[in-house]
Amino acid sequence: MEYAIKEIARVIGAKTNQLLDDTVSLLLTDSRRLSFPEKSLFFALKTKTNDGHRYIQELYKLRVRNFVVSDMLPEFESMKDANFLIVKDTLRALQKLATHHRKQFNIPVIGITGSNGKTIVKEFLYQLLHNEFNIVRSPRSYNSQLGVPLSVWQMSEKNTLGIFEAGISQPDEMERLQPIIAPTIGIITNIGEAHQENFLSSNQKCMEKLTLFNDCEAIIYDGDDLFIANCIESACLSHKAIAWSRTDSEAPLFIESIDKKEFETIIHCTLLGFNRVVTIPFTDDASIENVIHCMAVMLYLKPTSVNDVTKFLHLEPVAMRLDVKQGINNCLLINDTYNSDINSLDIALDFQQSRRVGKQLKSTLILSDILQSGTLPKSLYKKVADLVRRKKIDRIIGIGRDLKEYASVFEIEKEFYTTTEEFIKSPSFKKFKDELILIKGSRHFHFEQISELLEKKVHETILEVNLDAIVHNFNQYRSKLKPETKMVCMVKAFGYGAGSYELAKTLQEHRCDYLAVAVADEGAELRKEGISIPIIVMNPEFSSFNVLFENHLEPEVYSFRLLDAMIRETERRGITSYPIHIKIDTGMHRLGFQPEDVPAICERLRAQSGVIARSVFSHLAGSDSYVFDDFTHQQLDKFTKAAGELESGLEYKVIKHILNSAGIERFAAYQMDMVRLGIGLYGVSASGQKGLRNVSTLKTTILQIQNVPAGDSIGYSRMSYVKRDSRIAIIPIGYADGLDRHFSNGGGEVLINGQRCPIIGNICMDACMIDVTDIHAQEGDAVIIFGDELPVSELSDKLKTIPYEILTSISPRVKRVYFRE
Ligand SMILES: *Cc1c(COP(=O)(O)O)cnc(C)c1O
Repeated sequence: MEYAIKEIARVIGAKTNQLLDDTVSLLLTDSRRLSFPEKSLFFALKTKTNDGHRYIQELYKLRVRNFVVSDMLPEFESMKDANFLIVKDTLRALQKLATHHRKQFNIPVIGITGSNGKTIVKEFLYQLLHNEFNIVRSPRSYNSQLGVPLSVWQMSEKNTLGIFEAGISQPDEMERLQPIIAPTIGIITNIGEAHQENFLSSNQKCMEKLTLFNDCEAIIYDGDDLFIANCIESACLSHKAIAWSRTDSEAPLFIESIDKKEFETIIHCTLLGFNRVVTIPFTDDASIENVIHCMAVMLYLKPTSVNDVTKFLHLEPVAMRLDVKQGINNCLLINDTYNSDINSLDIALDFQQSRRVGKQLKSTLILSDILQSGTLPKSLYKKVADLVRRKKIDRIIGIGRDLKEYASVFEIEKEFYTTTEEFIKSPSFKKFKDELILIKGSRHFHFEQISELLEKKVHETILEVNLDAIVHNFNQYRSKLKPETKMVCMVKAFGYGAGSYELAKTLQEHRCDYLAVAVADEGAELRKEGISIPIIVMNPEFSSFNVLFENHLEPEVYSFRLLDAMIRETERRGITSYPIHIKIDTGMHRLGFQPEDVPAICERLRAQSGVIARSVFSHLAGSDSYVFDDFTHQQLDKFTKAAGELESGLEYKVIKHILNSAGIERFAAYQMDMVRLGIGLYGVSASGQKGLRNVSTLKTTILQIQNVPAGDSIGYSRMSYVKRDSRIAIIPIGYADGLDRHFSNGGGEVLINGQRCPIIGNICMDACMIDVTDIHAQEGDAVIIFGDELPVSELSDKLKTIPYEILTSISPRVKRVYFRE
């Protein structure tokens, strides 16, 4: 839908100069996501960590002409043909605009809130109701203060039902989301511990969430959840409540029994007095509860939509994330099995582009027909073609009748097939090489067959790395710092074991200022992979100067011997002003100049022009513990003095930095010009900092389960005997993968289906054994060595070491798999 810019200015109450007549239809908040400049209205948002005003010049060059800003910067004056709408708070303006847009539609709108399952319920509802309604819904889990207005903005005349999620992490947030979604039907899924830190109590959080439902006609929830039921009563919303229940046979939706089989669950229920049997293809409690929420909504919204119970059997699991995997012939695969629609295609293409930076990979899209889009195929595929062109995709492989029919709208290298089988059998299927392939298909095209064939087959033990958690942790630390303080992210030792390249790429994308590695070769690897931001090498070797200069890596310089060698090398090569980083030892006694050396350093530097001191730094020996606070303060003082002397001796600005992760947590006042973030980035806090997210999960699968009779021994050297008849699971991870042998014989535990089980017997080189007698486990189940629910610090405590060692000991043969939520 298009809006005149003048109307938008009025709606958001903007101050303006002379406005040029124009219309826009797209809202842009991230400059990197620009696709259609002429139709975009850019909102310059200010967050704790960034400021959209910085990107206006760049966007203007790319032909964007409409901007909502809070600061009218001098450089905007020259952009005479652009409209600037000036408001106090750009996020609020965006929300106001979305609220206005929402008011144009008089259709049922479902608002979903709760701690877990919002996205799943939304996607299940979509699957169950798309034949009855033309549905607009939040893409993925766009449910924040920013995501909600962007989601609601997608509403158009053709829609007959809206489904939007609302997530909050702080008091007062829901109050703002309520008018934007203005739901007519509310669902509250459950209330858990997520985001608890900002609320006084679960009660406050629940009450806050319920404000979403102030103007609803009906509120759907689990009536057996007494906590939610009480909150609904206190919020005076009982008269609208539609509770489903397993215990109250009077409930409009009464669940008589839930019968779990091996692969499916049979639910006997009474719907408005009629008995029904619904079978669903899931057996976990969360999915069952999510489906029941959906049944209750359907019952209220359109009772006949429940008549055909086979739809429930065909429900498909909702993939929540984008995976990047190694493919055959140097290909990278991005698998997106999330419901195929044009919005999620847009997001997936962005992700694909962001993974491509610097790689000599061709970008290929394998796409199926987009089903149930509610748009006529002709205009739908024209839109897709436009998007694919704007996102600079090199090649499209289209699968399905519709795509084949509209093949001509695509103006890039292309191939089309009617079915997935036809494509797999085609000669071109064998020719993938050096490509970054996005695989995106509607479920019934079974694209998993494609990805299975293209995936490189490896060991079943993997380290999963959550790139969103990295970004979250990065921003968590950034929010503790002044906006102008620079950040170095330490990706030494293969990114503390998590893999440096994908991390570096993600950090570069999020505008980290510097990376630091241990040795020059690590830095060279990053350069090869297209990392262009400055990289510091902490332990440069005299033998590696070539690698340093060729890759423009900036060395730490800690001694006169190294300084002189650097100066000689630059002079020999005719290089001037090569950046170096001066390390001062203030008490750690690892590498470094002594503070007394500063005058001599200045003298040497002033006498040459080959190198310049880009920064000066020192390292704290005990920033994580209050026990050493006196010593830390001594170090801080020594450094402040030495760094000041260096700067005045050199007469140019030198970046000063001393804090590591624990330092940022505990001594933020000494952030100076820059900080060096290490372990905190990976989700481990040395000083008990809250709010970090776990990044890495080491997991494997059960290869076999053996029934072992009482009295038998397990493994090498017969170190463990089972006292009772036992079930023993064998998993493919051993000390060669980095599983420390001290965890043998009950020394360590793993997590299977959420339950802890001990390691039994001695850990072997490539495998170990787990006692699963007391839990429900079967062959093929996932086994977590460490992760969200079994923190790496628990493992390091058991071994009397530190998390750093566990993380960096994971063998390179363990495949790293990166994902985004
Ligand atoms: C590794 C390292 C860091 C990061 O330390 P964390 O405790 O992981 O935050 C910072 N500075 C230097 C010099 C380092 O070697």
